[in-house]
Amino acid sequence: MGRRLRSFLLLVLSAQAFGSGLGSYEKLVVADAPGAARAGVRVTYLGTNGYQFEFRGHALLVDPYFSRVDLLSAALGSRIQPNASRVNDGLRHLASGNHRTDAILVTHGHFDHLLDVPGLMSKTRVRLIASASSVDLAERAGASSGDAVKPGDVRRIGPWKIRVLPATHDRLFGKVPFDKPHSQTGPPQRAADWICGEPLAFLIEVNGQRIYIDSGGTQAQLPPNESRGIGLAILGVALPDSRERLHAALWRLQPRYILPSHQDDFFRPLIAGFQFGALSDFPRVQRECAQQNRCRLILLDYFRPWTLPEAAGSKSQKTAGAVNPKSQTPNPKSS
Ligand SMILES: [Zn+2]
Repeated sequence: MGRRLRSFLLLVLSAQAFGSGLGSYEKLVVADAPGAARAGVRVTYLGTNGYQFEFRGHALLVDPYFSRVDLLSAALGSRIQPNASRVNDGLRHLASGNHRTDAILVTHGHFDHLLDVPGLMSKTRVRLIASASSVDLAERAGASSGDAVKPGDVRRIGPWKIRVLPATHDRLFGKVPFDKPHSQTGPPQRAADWICGEPLAFLIEVNGQRIYIDSGGTQAQLPPNESRGIGLAILGVALPDSRERLHAALWRLQPRYILPSHQDDFFRPLIAGFQFGALSDFPRVQRECAQQNRCRLILLDYFRPWTLPEAAGSKSQKTAGAVNPKSQTPNPKSS
């Protein structure tokens, strides 16, 4: 075993023993009240960088990953494969929504984003939207087909408008992990076979609301300038690179809500509950977000849905007659 790998394992294993959960940040955790029926787009966190978005009986999945391969299997190059019972548990949580899933979006090809996708596609007959190399990996792992997209592409499916954006991937020890182009043609077997490929970000528009999502990145590629109109920005913060670019990313996106993502320990099963990952640094994330006083920092717990509040003055909210008194948007009734 290489020295770097050994010290990484030691670091992660020792941090796992002291991992902390969401308990100390309870005030930041948002969730719908049980049984509450709310209009608007509902967001459910699936762990790692996985999300379900729901709107009026339609759903989208991003980076759904339930198997949670353990650290040693991933790091030592053992054969890894989806964990059927964990995937089924995950799907049971999602089934309560009673919707049809229109597509699975994948930000890049690493196992913690793509491993479970071929199996989910065969269960749900859903379409995959990902980079060409991720589609190739998924097909070699058994997916029937996929929609290979590149930055600039736009897809309209059901109520969703999905804009594909360029992204980068965080470096670990100075390089993107599992980045090597490969000559392999058979099914991916080890963690290293699930290569990154071209990282993507997505801008999802539904019901007049806009959600930006990526899985991290570097300063070399920031999100687009969106001076208005991003309701929720989900930004990966797993490693130092992505935290380094957080300030600039938020400055460009100006979201109403910021949800830091990919900061849990994804080597532990979902059933063990949310624990921060060994290389995460949430206090730093909090400091960066505090400098953006217009955006509210939130956290989500696993499988506890939250409905993104609509911006005051948005078309659908006017018809519902609701008013947000804190908003600075001019409101004809109050002026
Ligand atoms: Zn990755």
